[in-house]
Amino acid sequence: MNFQSLPFQDPECQKLWQQARQETAEVRAEIQNRADLNFLKVHRAFQETQLSEAVLAGTTGYGYDDSAREGVDSLFARVFGAEAAAVRMQWVSGTHAMTSALRGNLKPGQTLVSATGAPYDTLLPVIGVPQAGVGSLASIGVHYREVPLQQGRPDLQAIEAALDETTGMVFLQRSRGYTWRPSFSLETLSQVIEVVRRKLGDKVTILVDNCYGEMVELREPSQLGADIVVGSLIKNLGGTVVPTGAYVAGRTQAVENCMAAFTAPGLTGHVGPTLGLARTMAQALSLAPQTVGQCLEGLVVASWLFENQGFETSPRWNEPRTDTIQAIRLGSVDGQRLFCKAIQSMGLVDARATPVSVVQPGYRDPILMAGGTFIQGSSAELSADGPEREPYVCYLQGGTSRMHVELAAVSALQALRKSECYQ
Ligand SMILES: *Cc1c(COP(=O)(O)O)cnc(C)c1O
Repeated sequence: MNFQSLPFQDPECQKLWQQARQETAEVRAEIQNRADLNFLKVHRAFQETQLSEAVLAGTTGYGYDDSAREGVDSLFARVFGAEAAAVRMQWVSGTHAMTSALRGNLKPGQTLVSATGAPYDTLLPVIGVPQAGVGSLASIGVHYREVPLQQGRPDLQAIEAALDETTGMVFLQRSRGYTWRPSFSLETLSQVIEVVRRKLGDKVTILVDNCYGEMVELREPSQLGADIVVGSLIKNLGGTVVPTGAYVAGRTQAVENCMAAFTAPGLTGHVGPTLGLARTMAQALSLAPQTVGQCLEGLVVASWLFENQGFETSPRWNEPRTDTIQAIRLGSVDGQRLFCKAIQSMGLVDARATPVSVVQPGYRDPILMAGGTFIQGSSAELSADGPEREPYVCYLQGGTSRMHVELAAVSALQALRKSECYQ
């Protein structure tokens, strides 16, 4: 590699980077192999769907008979090995789609059981904890029970004990969110699903928050018996190019219930124009295996580098990955700020901005976010964020090219090494 053209100078960092690349070669080859297999899966979905360019312009207005929408739904259903899927730009975020899935599949008097501890920050107001705010599930009489993790893992016995005839839905979150815990492998999720089915059979709806997990392993939770799987299109499956939207995939009835809550009973998934965006959505799906693979390769190098310099990382560089997030424990607000500023400075746009923490809608603590991204808040693009609270962790994620992730990681390391935050 020609180091002359690098945007940072510390020779020690350059040496470390070389070493990181060499030592991680085998782990990264395995990631590339997985990306190849996932591409084959996506390719097969396209071959079976037979999308025609002539329909991709989509429709306007109500979006009746929008063949582009139906085509993309069919692609997603096939990739997820699911009976049905709905991919909609009218969902403003993953939280919005999750809210539709929860509202549509829960009735007053039923209990929602979260089997993987506290759900992601933005879902708490949706559920209505700690307060039953306007529009929350709690405000319409849906009860909530949370089974804490045991040493960072789902507690199978406690989950079984928490289930009873009032349980309407079991919620599982695959990725770590803003918590210092491992993301869950499909193997782990599958153990939970088995416990739930053994006790309650098909009467209960199992929902998986799949954010950041897509295309990281070779299958998706819908193939392990989850009824409905939900994610955002400004994360993995947007391939860094879809400007907005989210998806759900799963059993026909669960998806239908979700769509009744999203649009209106009677309308369900039969409306919603694609306004030309279905082209990008389909294209993005074809890109996703590779963008996810590149991101993961970059994160492995980043993890190696920070671990080597004495920082605690999760996952460690050679641990199996089940989401596209690399957590790095900085230990202080100053460390988080330096880290995020360095990541921002390596962005493709807004590189001169300095991230400042703010309390965003739906979040509890001020959050520092670095994202020199083309799409606002896109975390499929190179970005880093972290809530300003113990243990002062930054979550590094996204990136279309492994080189971009590595550049950013080395430059953050260099900034930290020059500062007092360096341990
Ligand atoms: C990002 C995320 C969400 C919510 O997605 P938004 O699109 O930001 O609303 C939910 N759960 C997890 C684990 C996430 O990472």
